Amino acid sequence: LNKKRVNISWIIDMTLELLEYRLKRHDVEIIRQQTENLPPVEADTELMKEVFVNLIVNACEAMGDGGRIFIEENQVVGDRNGCAVRISIRDTGPGIPDEARQKILEPFHTTKIQGTGLGLFITGRIIREHGGQLSIHSAEGQGANFIVTLPVPEEDG
Ligand code: ADP
Ligand code: MG
Repeated sequence: LNKKRVNISWIIDMTLELLEYRLKRHDVEIIRQQTENLPPVEADTELMKEVFVNLIVNACEAMGDGGRIFIEENQVVGDRNGCAVRISIRDTGPGIPDEARQKILEPFHTTKIQGTGLGLFITGRIIREHGGQLSIHSAEGQGANFIVTLPVPEEDG
């Protein structure tokens, strides 16, 4: 792990640049809500980019053409583990059924003909290696919502 103090917004900027062509081609709209003065996190930039590539590409694949992806970045203050940065990625696809919610984090679980089922497994592992958490929400009839929480170093909280 090559950790540095970075602003997570900047990593998301780079991820979106990387995916620009794919997003345009599939007419996917990104709706972003950023928070000013978001505290930095300790992160390996390359691995964290991989996390957001996986989550955004999954959202694209779930939606087909013409969907929307909402990306929100927030600071979570004062939970028992100190301060954290919370990134929410929500799509307008079919969502994830209750019974699949745990399974999709397991390796080789895929519902795609050409899927590897490794994306979320690796994503979860990278986040945990950063001391963070990945949680999945999906209400009936709504899209999937993946939430990444990363700890903020104490001196920055
Ligand atoms: P892969 O993309 O290769 O299938 P992943 O680990 O990235 O592997 O995802 C596992 C499975 O989780 C997918 O096959 C899909 O069924 C489900 N999934 C992941 N992201 C979403 C999403 N945004 N909306 C609906 N289903 C999803
Ligand atoms: Mg995937």
